[in-house]
Amino acid sequence: MALKITGDCTSCHICVPECPNDAISPGPDIYVINTNSCTECVGFHDTPQCAAVCPVDSCVFDEDNKETEAQLIEKVKSLHPEKDFPAEPISHHGRNR
Ligand code: SF4
Repeated sequence: MALKITGDCTSCHICVPECPNDAISPGPDIYVINTNSCTECVGFHDTPQCAAVCPVDSCVFDEDNKETEAQLIEKVKSLHPEKDFPAEPISHHGRNR
């Protein structure tokens, strides 16, 4: 599933450069994550990097946008067609399924 940013966000911007998919941008009030671009960092990192750096823990899993590991791998491949990802598995343990 993608991550989302809760109302605790202070718009500090620290998460933006950490996202490998450019999924985070300023919204009208707080920063927002584009669900279509968030892969939970699958393909790049073992854990979601925005959540790792957020000083107020406002980057959380979006339970309304559940995706399987296979779906996330397909998503990251479509976002980065120029990049070679290993066929299986792409290490990731940021969540329980
Ligand atoms: Fe970007 Fe990773 Fe956060 Fe998703 S989990 S918004 S891919 S940094």
